[in-house]
Amino acid sequence: MIQRIFFPLSFTKDKGLQPTYLARNNFGIKHERELDENIEEKIKDRDSKKYLLIGGDVSGIQDFIYHISSKGALKLLRGRSFYLEMFCEDIVHEIVERLGLPKANIVYSGGGNFFILAPCTKETDDIMKELKADLECWLIKKRLSSSLYLALSWLSFSGDKFVNFSHIWMDVNQENSLKKAQKYKSVLEKNPSKILELGDYGDPCDACRKIVPSEDLEPVDDEEGVMFCPLCHEQMEVGRELARFGNSFYIIKEDQGYGFSVPFSKLKLVEKGKLGMDRSPSAIYAINSFDTDEVIGLIKSKKLIFDIRISSIPIAIYCAKPDYRKSEREIFSLEELAEKSNGSKKLGAVRMDVDNLGKIFTYGLPEDQRNVTRISSLSRMMNYFFKGYLNLLGEFKEEKVLNVCNWQSNSPKLVKERRHSRNFSIVYAGGDDLFILGAWDDVFELCFDIEELFRKYVAENPHVTISAGFSIFGSKHPLYQIARVCGNKEECSKEDGKDRIYLLDRGAGKEQISRKFEGIKDAGLEDSISWRDARKLFADFKPIFWYIMNDKGNASKSMVRKLLAAREEYCKYPEKANWVIQLHYFVSQNKDMKNLLDNNRHEELRKYFYSVYSDKVSPIYDIDLALNILDLLGRKVNS
Ligand SMILES: [Zn+2]
Repeated sequence: MIQRIFFPLSFTKDKGLQPTYLARNNFGIKHERELDENIEEKIKDRDSKKYLLIGGDVSGIQDFIYHISSKGALKLLRGRSFYLEMFCEDIVHEIVERLGLPKANIVYSGGGNFFILAPCTKETDDIMKELKADLECWLIKKRLSSSLYLALSWLSFSGDKFVNFSHIWMDVNQENSLKKAQKYKSVLEKNPSKILELGDYGDPCDACRKIVPSEDLEPVDDEEGVMFCPLCHEQMEVGRELARFGNSFYIIKEDQGYGFSVPFSKLKLVEKGKLGMDRSPSAIYAINSFDTDEVIGLIKSKKLIFDIRISSIPIAIYCAKPDYRKSEREIFSLEELAEKSNGSKKLGAVRMDVDNLGKIFTYGLPEDQRNVTRISSLSRMMNYFFKGYLNLLGEFKEEKVLNVCNWQSNSPKLVKERRHSRNFSIVYAGGDDLFILGAWDDVFELCFDIEELFRKYVAENPHVTISAGFSIFGSKHPLYQIARVCGNKEECSKEDGKDRIYLLDRGAGKEQISRKFEGIKDAGLEDSISWRDARKLFADFKPIFWYIMNDKGNASKSMVRKLLAAREEYCKYPEKANWVIQLHYFVSQNKDMKNLLDNNRHEELRKYFYSVYSDKVSPIYDIDLALNILDLLGRKVNS
């Protein structure tokens, strides 16, 4: 799989090849009607604007995916997130098709973002305007305009810009950001009745809460009294099929057929080995597979047309399933995932996002190397990490991945060894961010595994980092709140300085001690913690972890409580010695704790309990992160 993921790099390695091809290709279209004239001068001209960079950026992804009720939750959530990927792919393919361009002109597509290179002609401009209007119409008709929006811009540029492509790339991004601030402006200006005439008669869909005509609502299998709108039905069905088909399958596009509706097509999921059983599709998307044997075989036997469009799309799709599989459609529900946790039966959730993405694209490459290939490869490789590696982390079978996570890292481990098929489900991952739900202990470890693998993936480049917001919830907690809380925590990690993870809330102690250290720079009072410090903290606490995990008696629980009580005392009165006295008394009375701290090999652990600083918070402040995780791990009941 790793080789497969890296495969696309090989044809972009030759940095001269692709831009030249793309430029010629667009150039040819631009000048095809002038071939009888003498165009030698025109060809040499690198100042006039002959090219267009078309950029698309979907906004409202968060709202669209997460703002659903908990009815049929995980399947619908995954169906929705997958739907969104295909929504973007469909638009990208419609653009190149209408413009008559080959697929090579798609410079990048992933994570709700795409870039396409096109010739700058009046015709292109007209086609793009028409396509944009068609798309907006469709979104309004499907009543998606309140959540989803595609900002679509195209800017012209001259041949000179190919040398430093990051400028035009950023300009298109900028343009799209402006458009996002005034969604559906053109529709509202020209034809406001289009949005208004939808009205709000009817009843709300139980999943997306959209008001639709009552006759459009249909009941959902195995959920009594639950009614979904047609789009949610389709997405629920997609979610079911995803669970059934595994990580690799096909999506086919038929001109007249049935399936789920994206703006310009109807798409259908097809299992591997079952292509060619439908009427001839007009396009095929191979999901998580670069293996073309099946398709080539069908073309040879004339079951597929020879010029069919085939695209390989990596999609992060891993989800935990029961071993026994009551029925083949089963995936773990949120309750079942929580039930799989060690200790407290809770759900863990994390959102992660690459830091400083804009800077990476602007300054990440030497100035003379910011050509179109380099820039698009950078985006593509970033996308592959989130699309490909996360699946591997879920399956947890690939040797190199196991090696990094199990043996090469000093990431915190809550169980001795993770088995394959881990207990989490990817809700969304792509571009530069991800959202994952699962058993809390598995997701906790996963955060560090992802960061560790990401470090290796970017060759330990200190400027390319990632920040995370982790949180623990009861399994009945509303999904959009989970997404929002994790999002806020991720934001907090970034504000605290990036390259960090938000693990747990620091409790009342944080408020109290913040007052004492007000105005002191670098006091060490951030809510989040750097990856490096978190790893060190959990490594230092390993002796206590193993002691308690091997002996989960009441004595150990009270030990955690006593240690946390000393921290609380410190937070209240950091300038007084009460906490030290309290702690030392406890240690002197507790033989095991005394042995642990007196052990010569545990010098780093001792520092948390015996070091006192006055210009910044003392290390005792940080013990809550390790001990609260330990406490959750030791709990037998759902508390
Ligand atoms: Zn709905």
